[in-house]
Amino acid sequence: MTTQEMNLAFEQAYGKKAEKMYFSPGRVNLIGEHTDYNGGCVFPCALSFGAWLLLAKNNDQVLRFRSLNMPQTYSIPVADIKPQPDRAWCNYALGCIDIIRRRHPEAKLESGYDLLYYGNVPAGAGLSSSAAMEVVTARAFTEEMNWKDADDKKYRTELALIGQACEHEYAGVMCGVMDQFASAQGKKDHAIHLNCDTLEFEHVPVKLEGIKVVISNTHSPHHLDSGAYNDRVRQCKTAVEQISTVKPIKHLAELTPEDWKEVEGVITDPIAKKRAHHVVGEVARTAEAVEALKKGDIKRFGELMTQSHVSLRDDYEVTGKELDTMAEAAWEVEGVLGSRMTGGGFGGCTVSLVKDEAIETFKAHVGKVYEEKTGLKPDFYVAEIGDGVSRLA
Ligand code: ADP
Ligand code: MG
Repeated sequence: MTTQEMNLAFEQAYGKKAEKMYFSPGRVNLIGEHTDYNGGCVFPCALSFGAWLLLAKNNDQVLRFRSLNMPQTYSIPVADIKPQPDRAWCNYALGCIDIIRRRHPEAKLESGYDLLYYGNVPAGAGLSSSAAMEVVTARAFTEEMNWKDADDKKYRTELALIGQACEHEYAGVMCGVMDQFASAQGKKDHAIHLNCDTLEFEHVPVKLEGIKVVISNTHSPHHLDSGAYNDRVRQCKTAVEQISTVKPIKHLAELTPEDWKEVEGVITDPIAKKRAHHVVGEVARTAEAVEALKKGDIKRFGELMTQSHVSLRDDYEVTGKELDTMAEAAWEVEGVLGSRMTGGGFGGCTVSLVKDEAIETFKAHVGKVYEEKTGLKPDFYVAEIGDGVSRLA
């Protein structure tokens, strides 16, 4: 859909022209999985897919929500902003408006608004359509409510934190900050080396001459549910507590692979030990991958991606049949430098580095093997690394 078509859709919906238009991207994490809540780094980049928001003020003191992706519409009085029941999609937007006011009491919502969303992030694929929607809303309404940090980097970090708080409080998903951060701070042809604990980050150029980032959507119905997620969080905590009896640490990410050899013996629960082993290895792999990319060693970067998948499969146990089939089929293709699951796990997508000349073979081979083994039809997207949130008009 073009922006012109979105403008037309707005006019048809509300009988007037949109006054402003914003865009915020989805994201893909290249490496650094399940490190975020262990004090470690992640390495996501913003995509060219994302969420658009068109808006105009109204004189009715209501917030009208429409989406070109959803049949439900909502009309919420400005005086009565609170979480809406039944997993209403407007929660991902409404919450941002509420949280802007609460975090910045000087920000005032002085009129009603007519809003239209459109997103082209594939739904439920773990590429963060929800973060795109939150961050685009946070960007638009900080402007409408006259709150902005003069420092652009700080402003964008704040947009990510507003989005994350919205996801916690209005959508009930206790996510880390990576997705919203990538959506807010993304930079064209760069990935973001982010420490999710300190929020320190660096934009690292992704120069892949003759190589593309390919995202493969499993369309698997499985998700990393909150139970499996909370189990992992708890197992990592158990490992930290036991390791702390011999070496005081706050997070697993503080351990190097050398430290690991000295402390692993004190972890009594074999499951907790496997989980911690993944985290320590993944933290080291992520750091090494970023260095490899800076040196232009894409081959090494790819190898580390593949090792990351193996560790998520064997130690963290968050892959499952679909993601394993997809990654393992990719490894068989000549011209694939690396392939791994991305996002929380169980379903969603893999991310692969594929030489230009191998892309068609990749799609044909991986598509065929995947369909044969799972009965599901995958989708492939050649990713473009785009900028973070912006106002378009
Ligand atoms: P993802 O991995 O894509 O972020 P989530 O389950 O976290 O998946 O978020 C998807 C939810 O976000 C949808 O069910 C819907 O409520 C909301 N959402 C995302 N994009 C849109 C959109 N364009 N229009 C309306 N709601 C959206
Ligand atoms: Mg989400």
